[in-house]
Amino acid sequence: MDIDRRFAFDYNKMPDDSMTIEEIAALVRPNVLKLSPYSSARDEFKGEAHIFLDANENPFDSGLNRYPDPHQTILKGLLAPRKGVASESIFLGNGSDEAIDLLIRTFCIPGKNEILITPPTYGMYKVSADINDVKIVECSLTESFELDAEQLLKKVGSNTRIIFLCSPNNPSGNLLSNKQLELVLTGFQGIVVIDEAYIDFAGRPSWISRLKEFPNLVVLQTLSKAWGLANLRVGMAFAHPFIVGLLNKMKPPYNINGVSQRLAAEALESDDKLSDIVKVIIHERSLLSAELQLLPNVVKVYPSDANFLLVKMKAAHSVYSALLAKGVVVRDRSNVRLCDDCLRITVGTSSENKELLSTLRTL
Ligand SMILES: *Cc1c(COP(=O)(O)O)cnc(C)c1O
Repeated sequence: MDIDRRFAFDYNKMPDDSMTIEEIAALVRPNVLKLSPYSSARDEFKGEAHIFLDANENPFDSGLNRYPDPHQTILKGLLAPRKGVASESIFLGNGSDEAIDLLIRTFCIPGKNEILITPPTYGMYKVSADINDVKIVECSLTESFELDAEQLLKKVGSNTRIIFLCSPNNPSGNLLSNKQLELVLTGFQGIVVIDEAYIDFAGRPSWISRLKEFPNLVVLQTLSKAWGLANLRVGMAFAHPFIVGLLNKMKPPYNINGVSQRLAAEALESDDKLSDIVKVIIHERSLLSAELQLLPNVVKVYPSDANFLLVKMKAAHSVYSALLAKGVVVRDRSNVRLCDDCLRITVGTSSENKELLSTLRTL
């Protein structure tokens, strides 16, 4: 097998029991491994020129008449130092949801391979697996929403290709323990995805810093939450360049449009605003949590490392409907495993949170 080692990590740093790239390559769907990707006009010509007649674009300048950079070079160049990885370890998707779908399509043969998920968790892992006809095996988190690596690893079978873990977890809001995550990373001979959509609200560093130890690790992040850019649809996957190369081969050539690339780059260049906004949201989270706990219809507010709170109510569904009738919409999670009678409430602005609280007091 021809594996590109130009960007290979320093193998001396890897623990002896970490997977090799050859072992990871053996998990890739054979059709994907041998796929030759679409080659765009901009892939085939990269030099200097002043007349571009190679891409069937409209020649009249509208500011948007040229195709965007399919490799998102500028954006990756801004992200790489900030995240402490090489550009070759960054995949950018049309939201992290695109990365979830591509990972499943890269590693799972429909009708044969399976993924492992840990309910209650983010819904897209299951939806993407269902779309791709990939079987889902579930292993619930504990009552306190912690990961039980030993139980999880017992569910791994010869067809398990990916374990999706979400930390901080949606909808419970808590970080999963580093120890349990490490047990999964070392104990599973397959791809471990740690979805860190909410990591900027948590007081713990990202798993990106540990990519070098675990070539089977994929870390997902997004500009949709802390960065306040959900509308742009820019998600990130950080992984060994071999895995990033596979995702790049599979993606539609122009998956991130040029406007999104430009606006995302501008946001990254003026990122001083980010930490202020995140601090405000974290502060509001603690105020909201404390106030909610005083309400008679609240049974429990779960601790949160994210920008939302999972709240156990006396009668979640009727509270949900009563709030809705007053124009306040929260997420009813009461049908989700381990979340009986729970609402998931996003932390809003100070005035939004106050209005939510005053509405709840009238119920
Ligand atoms: C919101 C969310 C995402 C989606 O991110 P996009 O980049 O907007 O697609 C991914 N994972 C989790 C856990 C989320 O809650």
